[in-house]
Amino acid sequence: MPLESVNVPPPNHVAVLGGQGWVGLVDHMGSEVTIVNAARVSFGKRREAMGEHDTELLRYLIAHRHTSPLEHVVFTFLIHCPLFVRSQWHRHRSWSFNEISRRYTSVDIDFYVPPLFRAQAEDNRQASIRSDNLDQKTCREQVTAHHRLSLELYNRLLAMGVCREQARGVLPQNMFTTFWGTVDLHNLIGFIQLRDTPHAQWEIREYARAIKKLIRPVIPHVAEILGWDTAKTAPAP
Ligand SMILES: Cc1cc2nc3c(=O)[nH]c(=O)nc-3n(C[C@H](O)[C@H](O)[C@H](O)COP(=O)(O)OP(=O)(O)OC[C@H]3O[C@@H](n4cnc5c(N)ncnc54)[C@H](O)[C@@H]3O)c2cc1C
Repeated sequence: MPLESVNVPPPNHVAVLGGQGWVGLVDHMGSEVTIVNAARVSFGKRREAMGEHDTELLRYLIAHRHTSPLEHVVFTFLIHCPLFVRSQWHRHRSWSFNEISRRYTSVDIDFYVPPLFRAQAEDNRQASIRSDNLDQKTCREQVTAHHRLSLELYNRLLAMGVCREQARGVLPQNMFTTFWGTVDLHNLIGFIQLRDTPHAQWEIREYARAIKKLIRPVIPHVAEILGWDTAKTAPAP
């Protein structure tokens, strides 16, 4: 079998960031039956399919933070995102990660251009706001030009014989990276609670929302109990 690029989204994926990024569900283990069976092992019982009262059991587990049964359901995602989103994501230590290495490869380099530039919020030093005072066209042109010049410098350094691991230092944070991320459902819910809120940066919020869409078919009752509205995309600030 030939090797394929990881910079191609898997079949089950959701596009984000105006179609520039994506997150795909590449594998998962377990279902809602796994959760209720893990909880019921206390009584020495199990069953093959969701029973009549099992949705109530799920609700009880979540309401009372009896969350360890949720850890028996595991998801693996392939994520294509800008470096700064990757940095935020990798703060979540309960995930396992493996990422493309720019020490190994210098191909498939692309950059994120925000669909909408936002202004700095004045009342919250980590937040941004929509602003009519920004010249979107000029911002886009200058950012795109910077990406092009950075890539030209990167390629010049390689041509001069500089190694990939040092040349990559000139590539901006808007560069896309691709990584595998595996996490259990309990910690994934924690990630979503932290990253699908107005406090999180819009870009990572897009990914958190996309993940909700991807996993909802696997955990429909859990999604409903948590009140997930997966129809919408992340609201712009
Ligand atoms: C809106 C927002 C802004 C942020 N801003 C910043 C920032 O400015 N600077 C910055 O550095 N970070 C920032 N963070 C990252 C934040 O501090 C957390 O590192 C990140 O959200 C991961 O959360 P977590 O530890 O719950 O997740 P995980 O690392 O996935 O851990 C899951 C849970 O496991 C337990 N756990 C994991 N590791 C340990 C441990 N070593 N000791 C005890 N319990 C552990 C905890 O219960 C934890 O909640 C920000 C996060 C958000 C959502």
